[in-house]
Amino acid sequence: MTTAGKLDTARLQALDAAHHLHPFTDHRELGGRGTRIIERAAGVYLWDSEGNRLLDGMAGLWCVNIGYGRSELADAAHRQMLELPYYNSFFQCTHPPAVELAHAIAEQAPAHMNHVFFTGSGSEANDTVLRMVRRYWDLQGQPLRKTVIGRTNGYHGSTVAGASLGGMGAMHEQGDLPIPGIAHIAQPYWYGEGGDMDEDEFGLWAARQLEAKILELGADRVAAFIAEPIQGAGGVIVPPATYWPEIQRIVDRYGILLVVDEVICGFGRTGEWFGSQYYNIRPDLMPIAKGMTSGYLPMGGVIVGERVARALIDEGGEFFHGYTYSGHPVAAAVALENLRILRDEGIVDYARNEAAPYLQKRIRELADHPLVGEVRGVGMLGAIELVKDRNTRERFPGKGAAGSLCRDLCIRNGLVMRAVGDSMIMSPPLVIEPQEIDELFDKAWRTLNMTAQQLGRS
Ligand SMILES: *Cc1c(COP(=O)(O)O)cnc(C)c1O
Repeated sequence: MTTAGKLDTARLQALDAAHHLHPFTDHRELGGRGTRIIERAAGVYLWDSEGNRLLDGMAGLWCVNIGYGRSELADAAHRQMLELPYYNSFFQCTHPPAVELAHAIAEQAPAHMNHVFFTGSGSEANDTVLRMVRRYWDLQGQPLRKTVIGRTNGYHGSTVAGASLGGMGAMHEQGDLPIPGIAHIAQPYWYGEGGDMDEDEFGLWAARQLEAKILELGADRVAAFIAEPIQGAGGVIVPPATYWPEIQRIVDRYGILLVVDEVICGFGRTGEWFGSQYYNIRPDLMPIAKGMTSGYLPMGGVIVGERVARALIDEGGEFFHGYTYSGHPVAAAVALENLRILRDEGIVDYARNEAAPYLQKRIRELADHPLVGEVRGVGMLGAIELVKDRNTRERFPGKGAAGSLCRDLCIRNGLVMRAVGDSMIMSPPLVIEPQEIDELFDKAWRTLNMTAQQLGRS
């Protein structure tokens, strides 16, 4: 820790406070604490401006699937910038990286999903979803089918459509959201909301809320259902095994479109290429982003199944929708290289066969800790839910205070986990090695002990 480093930190923190508005941040609270300046990263580790090394248990924001520091992606960006830094794909034009990427994604996607519409982010992907779903039903001669059903505590991004499709109450309150034509049903959160039902029973109950909502709104007015295979931002909520098969039955029965938001689960997070493959479901639309470029550049998209693609292509005429950066050549070149690495280095297979089974074994050991009510997870996703009383599931007072405390202690111990309420969540790079998983859980256990101590529980 050099003096120069410290001065730089203070200067950057002051400028940050003076000029930078952060996403999802209480700036008054941030001002009191000062921002942490992340300077560089390699593999699964981050270094801050004070020289502290942190194990990144979140892969950035669920996105750095291949880990940090892969020079191949930098080389791909450099080459593409010199060759063709920008061109659009409006007006009868295209360019090699967008074509190759659409092809590569179609190869990995479920067999009936062969087209990709590119966006700049996951939120834009969900804005595109809303436009496409409504356009689809117009083309079917059913313009009254407008309503999209999402879920309470679902997350589909932060733009007006994304936040409306999502079910985050705090986001809705700040923007007169949701916009009209969007409805929400209960989430399949058994530990928090299952009451006296057993897990399978609750999964069926939660899925059947969809059927009840369809009947309430009128089956001829419902356009689509949107959900994450596993809720991420909502707290890594893994649905009971009975949930997705029942959802599939219901969307099939009423003929509504199924939108599976793969922004987190896509590109290997569950140990399969897509969460839809993990759960064996048949989406019509899959929004993607995050792991698509491993976060090295911003990019998103919607993978479109045959049903919607045929309508748009064969009957649709011009679809008045698109972004300046749809299919951006540099982002596409980086995504393509990221996909090549995921595939050729067997990273998705490694996640499925080695990293995920070990991560899931280690996280379940934390269930023995007196502070822990439930651990859950699938693939390279996990959550540790902190409770005051393991028998009654009673929470700590001060909504999320125990989680925030635990998160701060975690960072002090050199580990990044995120807190959602009192759930500690993790989503490390897929390439994390077994001894790094050991380090993650040693630090997590130590942090739980410190948290228990500070909460006066030991
Ligand atoms: C992060 C996320 C989004 C939004 O993506 P952005 O790139 O932040 O706009 C949408 N859906 C899910 C499931 C996400 O996790």
